[in-house]
Amino acid sequence: MIPFSDLKLQYQSIKEEVDAGVERVLRSGWFILGQEVRDFEEEFAAYIGVPYAVGVGSGTEALHLALLACDLAPGDEVITVSHTAVATVAAIELAGAKPVFVDIDPISYTMDPSELEDKITSVTKAILPVHLYGQVADMSPILTVAREHELKVIEDAAQAHGAEYQGRKAGSVGDLGCFSFYPTKNLGAYGDGGMIVTSDSGLAERLSLLRQYGWRERYVSSIRGINSRLDELQAAILRVKLRHLDEWNAKRRNHAGLYNRLLREAVLTTPMEMTYGKHCYHLYVVASKCRDDLQTFLRDNGVGALVHYPVPVHLQGAYQDLGLGTGALPVTEQCARQVLTLPVAPELTEEQIGGVCDLIVEFESSKGT
Ligand SMILES: *Cc1c(COP(=O)(O)O)cnc(C)c1O
Repeated sequence: MIPFSDLKLQYQSIKEEVDAGVERVLRSGWFILGQEVRDFEEEFAAYIGVPYAVGVGSGTEALHLALLACDLAPGDEVITVSHTAVATVAAIELAGAKPVFVDIDPISYTMDPSELEDKITSVTKAILPVHLYGQVADMSPILTVAREHELKVIEDAAQAHGAEYQGRKAGSVGDLGCFSFYPTKNLGAYGDGGMIVTSDSGLAERLSLLRQYGWRERYVSSIRGINSRLDELQAAILRVKLRHLDEWNAKRRNHAGLYNRLLREAVLTTPMEMTYGKHCYHLYVVASKCRDDLQTFLRDNGVGALVHYPVPVHLQGAYQDLGLGTGALPVTEQCARQVLTLPVAPELTEEQIGGVCDLIVEFESSKGT
């Protein structure tokens, strides 16, 4: 059995540190927005290389609040991609805006900046690139278009903790960077959690109000806000895990390098790390013309191989009223048919990665390819 990930094994490796953090919080009697959250915000901001970080309830809410902080009016448009977790699009609609999709680059699987100009209208307010799989989108041309049209750039960095673009950490390149601490992310809580980072003190101030009813002073709302808070237990756990993030990301990169070497002769396409940045391999995604058969074969042989994502958002039942049918985003649609995610969690061993590769070679030779 080669599992997709093994969070129990990861916990065993940091049990003492985590248990001490949890006990500290339980003994303190303070559970929401306290010292642990303040310390974690400071430590995470320093890690990303920005002055401000605001802890919130989830990655979806990080995106939602980031959009609210940009003062969107109902009917405003936000340009993003359809090849993403549905959360990206759900957050845009939660903020009252309309998602507008551009296609992706087939090599990086991220936003194709050359499509942006065509989609900008008088009500476009923001561009929301997604650093999918742990690879940062090509931010430089995206920022150029945004500056020209006075649009905000919000990075969906929910899969990119520690990834880099031209030497800068994902999340620190645009106006706002949004992270998720869903348990399986490269930096994961033991529950839900999220964070928004920024270098803009005004946006940081607005975000800290928005996450708690607009309170500057308790029980008195200075702006309309919601309740989206990171809790003390998750912050204490995440503080421990942040200290291991670079070491875990290095293991993911090592596994990815091993896959790339062992699958050099394979027919399927291995992922490409763009020269402008550093991939953090939240997911190691290959592309295969016989994806479904390969996934079944791997699963039958005990390998946890998943598809991220099988149906692009614009083709999902819930989003039919956006009016984009099959053929609207050809690269996105082709990727959805071909992508397959192989296990790359840091807890896996090189032998396990080798085992997955042996099975792929066996599958391809049985197909006569
Ligand atoms: C996980 C994820 C989110 C949402 O984060 P949650 O914490 O689950 O709400 C948003 N965008 C992307 C790309 C994600 O992978």
